[in-house]
Amino acid sequence: WSKETIAVVTGGNRGIGFEISRQLADHGVTVILTSRDANVGVESIKVLQEGGLDVECHQLDVLDSSSISQFSEWLKENYGGLNILVNNAGVNFNFGSDNSVENAQQVIETNYYGTKRMIEAMIPLMKASTAGGRIVNVSSRLGRLNGKRNRLENDALREQLSDVKNLTEELIDGVVTNFLQQVEDGTWKSGGWPRRFTDYSVSKLAVNAYTRFMAKKLCDRVDGEKIFINCYCPGWVKTALTGYAGSVTVEEGADTGVWLSLIPEQAITGKFFAERREIHF
Ligand code: NDP
Repeated sequence: WSKETIAVVTGGNRGIGFEISRQLADHGVTVILTSRDANVGVESIKVLQEGGLDVECHQLDVLDSSSISQFSEWLKENYGGLNILVNNAGVNFNFGSDNSVENAQQVIETNYYGTKRMIEAMIPLMKASTAGGRIVNVSSRLGRLNGKRNRLENDALREQLSDVKNLTEELIDGVVTNFLQQVEDGTWKSGGWPRRFTDYSVSKLAVNAYTRFMAKKLCDRVDGEKIFINCYCPGWVKTALTGYAGSVTVEEGADTGVWLSLIPEQAITGKFFAERREIHF
């Protein structure tokens, strides 16, 4: 990895995204820290640049297609593309019985569709390299199909989403559309969805399924143009998202994401990790 290796991090202005940006830059990679508020992005990179790190910033709102296209054009023109994409931007409103339809929509739109939009926009810009392009999706154990404390209770749906061979984009989109429909008409509680942080868990469940689907879709690319895609859970991290109540530091939370971005072994794709170990979906 060198200065010529270009890494793009979404939601890089704070929390885990900021720390992933810092650690990647510390490994000698050129980092494009993106932030939905351009001024906040500028302030964030100042801190890193003062530490001698090679970091640039650009505005990027994963909810806004025109922001994504403007960023894509800028990236192509200024850097010729990228090698590493870290989809970190995310929101969580701790969905419960008294939470709003708008919150559920924003969680699904940001965490799932935002990740998907970025993957679709960045794949054509992935640079050819022997190491292969890398996509890392920051996900969560809450989105596990078979988690001990939180799982998809709908057996038929769990089986469908576990069947990687037959997994399609339409199926995953259909799952989140169905969930949002049930939130809108007030029937979600009997829908067999995960019980804890339901909308957030559904969004991460979809990210995980999409990671597996994309790994399958990308696996036939020729040598030099390969792209490896994985997801990971950072643990319960002390950031704004947890009200700083997490049990691990941002340094620890960022670690597996950075490791997956730079891991020398090529063949790892379509997997779920935590603390640098593979875990089940
Ligand atoms: P923070 O709330 O500290 O950071 C979230 C980041 O996402 C911010 O930079 C925020 O930008 C950005 N963001 C939100 N919406 C958008 C958008 N539409 N476009 C671009 N950026 C956006 O949370 P964390 O650092 O904790 O979370 C980072 C990731 O880690 C998330 O995907 C989260 O789900 C995941 N995660 C976190 C865990 C934890 O314990 N903290 C546990 C498991 C997963 P802005 O500053 O403008 O709001």
